[in-house]
Amino acid sequence: MGEVEFNNENVMKCLCTGCPVQGTSECVKGKIQKMQEMMAEDIDIATVIGPEDVPGLYCASGEASCTDLYYHEECQCPECPVFKENELADGKTVGYYCRDGKAD
Ligand code: SF4
Ligand code: SF4
Repeated sequence: MGEVEFNNENVMKCLCTGCPVQGTSECVKGKIQKMQEMMAEDIDIATVIGPEDVPGLYCASGEASCTDLYYHEECQCPECPVFKENELADGKTVGYYCRDGKAD
């Protein structure tokens, strides 16, 4: 298990944008819209916007900058390819990286 890399490939694999924990967040909605606009222009988003602008890949970037998340819903991380590839199930923090900080 190593540190998860904050890169475009992992942003694409991340399941956070479809996670119910973020489903009702207006703050997240705004960030997703901005990201989609960038992706439509075929820009490598991980290089042009910082982790605070990506509402996901929290296992690499740490706690969410949005504060209106609903943590009573279920974290999707265990289903995510990034989670499996980096063996995050063996870490101290397992899932809910948006709340508890990056994978360790
Ligand atoms: S880290 Fe887990 S709980 Fe947080 S948004 Fe991503 S999938 Fe959902
Ligand atoms: S393990 Fe969770 S936070 Fe990390 S990329 Fe996958 S869904 Fe996103």
